[in-house]
Amino acid sequence: MTNVKCPQCGESNYAILTSATTAMYYPPVIKNGVNVNPDGNITTTTCRCMYCGNLFGYQTRYGKIWNGYER
Ligand SMILES: [Zn+2]
Repeated sequence: MTNVKCPQCGESNYAILTSATTAMYYPPVIKNGVNVNPDGNITTTTCRCMYCGNLFGYQTRYGKIWNGYER
């Protein structure tokens, strides 16, 4: 699971309110036995900091944080 910190207070203690993933189909493309076209869907997650109550969100792609943003 991705671990993020509240952009306001820096604590990593949050409730995940919503999580939505785009539904593009990425057909596997195999090159020399390796999938060179991995699932590139973007998951947008909205969180509420349990420490200061700040609402924030982040997006992940390829299992990594792709774009963090505040709400
Ligand atoms: Zn916070």
